[in-house]
Amino acid sequence: MAAPSMFRLDGKIALVTGASRGIGRACAEALASQGALVIVHYRSGEDAAKGVEAAIVAKGGKAETCAFDVADTGATETAIEGLIKRHGRLDILVANAGISIDGLLLRLKDDDLDLLFHTNVRGAIVCARAATRSMMRTKRGRVIFVSSVVGETGNGGQTAYAATKAALLGAAKSIAREYASRQITVNVLSPGFIDTDMTSSMTDAQREALVKAVPLGRTGSTADVAAACVYLASDEASYVTGQVLRVNGGMYV
Ligand code: NAD
Repeated sequence: MAAPSMFRLDGKIALVTGASRGIGRACAEALASQGALVIVHYRSGEDAAKGVEAAIVAKGGKAETCAFDVADTGATETAIEGLIKRHGRLDILVANAGISIDGLLLRLKDDDLDLLFHTNVRGAIVCARAATRSMMRTKRGRVIFVSSVVGETGNGGQTAYAATKAALLGAAKSIAREYASRQITVNVLSPGFIDTDMTSSMTDAQREALVKAVPLGRTGSTADVAAACVYLASDEASYVTGQVLRVNGGMYV
């Protein structure tokens, strides 16, 4: 007799923000490969998002796309309410959309500070607030915030970005406590140095220095992060809440 497969997500409705590329795309594809209907969210990359949808459908999965700016609270609320109305509920939220703006503290611009917090922190929290309205009713749900290793270690030149990623830990742990009685789990996925567009602007020297700081001796792939995302989204992770799952090759232990 074949062993029952684990981590299946058949029948689940999942929203992945910032899913037109990078880590979000990998998470969307991995959730869909486990049977979830995935809403591939994007802000402006419509063609790329449609490409992700098509790739999922070509493999026999279920997907659709949806656009809004997570830094725009009204648009985010309206869009997520619409998704919940259309599908009847939302089971999984992966709050992945994020930006990085790096620079030394002395040169940090107020506008950049605001944009980072509006996108990375307020955006993720507003998505969670809207998504959990449905999860409260169904008394089940998974919220996954995508943070970063620098949210726990700090990094010179990334004061504002690291602060936004650290903020997600406090938010996730608080929401986890608030909603535990409804069987909604809230966890943080904390990637280390992952090869994506966000990290592609690094010089070879910067990249080499970073890899030296990774005990496993390599950069991470988006698939490494997506596998952890599937686990946190699954029924098998139903006793895991308020935790930080680090996918960083041992960069921070
Ligand atoms: P990426 O730049 O390739 O993807 C980020 C996605 O977020 C893009 O699709 C972008 O359009 C979307 N986005 C940005 N601002 C948005 C907004 N206002 N509204 C809607 N969508 C918006 O980056 P990535 O490397 O795939 O990063 C994904 C997440 O992982 C981010 O939160 C990032 O901080 C985090 N992360 C990345 C790494 C890494 O090494 N790449 C490491 C740790 C954490």
